[in-house]
Amino acid sequence: MSYQSREPDLTLAVLEETENDSKSVFGKCLDCGKERIGDGWCKDCESNAFKENFGNWTSENTNIDDFIRSTQLNANGSVEYLEYINFEQFDLIENTNKGGAFSTTCSAVWMEGPRWIWDEMADQWIRNGPIKVALKRLNNSQNISADYLNQIYKYHQCENVADFFGITKDHTLNYMFVMKYESNSLNSYLDETQGMLCWKDIEAG
Ligand SMILES: [Zn+2]
Repeated sequence: MSYQSREPDLTLAVLEETENDSKSVFGKCLDCGKERIGDGWCKDCESNAFKENFGNWTSENTNIDDFIRSTQLNANGSVEYLEYINFEQFDLIENTNKGGAFSTTCSAVWMEGPRWIWDEMADQWIRNGPIKVALKRLNNSQNISADYLNQIYKYHQCENVADFFGITKDHTLNYMFVMKYESNSLNSYLDETQGMLCWKDIEAG
């Protein structure tokens, strides 16, 4: 099998480039004074902000909520966590006619977009605005199990997980992964692995 290589990801490239530099390259957090661990990323403050927001969203599935929360509390940067995104946030949803045994994929526009633009002056992350995404619907996922999510979580811990923005739930109450649109080219592979794969696997394969 061969896979299309990914377009260079500017955000990741910046992160990788600065990872090897001295610790102080990211500066200190303007709120708590601790060293940031990434561009604009103070892990303590981000974790606290995520925790404070836990009560403001729910996927209505405890397993999925726990999963999303754990990605947020363990994130080391703005592209490393998932969020629960209301389905109303998506516009221009089109079926791409690419389906598999486990999933159906649509394209859509996520109106708010990911929160991945760092405004140093304002000391805050800003949302990107409308961005084309792939919505990968997990068929019959109304009662998604903790086991299944554990496997996805293992996948999510792989390197370069920036292809997943979050999880949403459509009008049929099936859960959908919100992914970068370009990662759509991996559709068949994702189906074989039921949505779980690691970039390391792809590169090695
Ligand atoms: Zn801080």
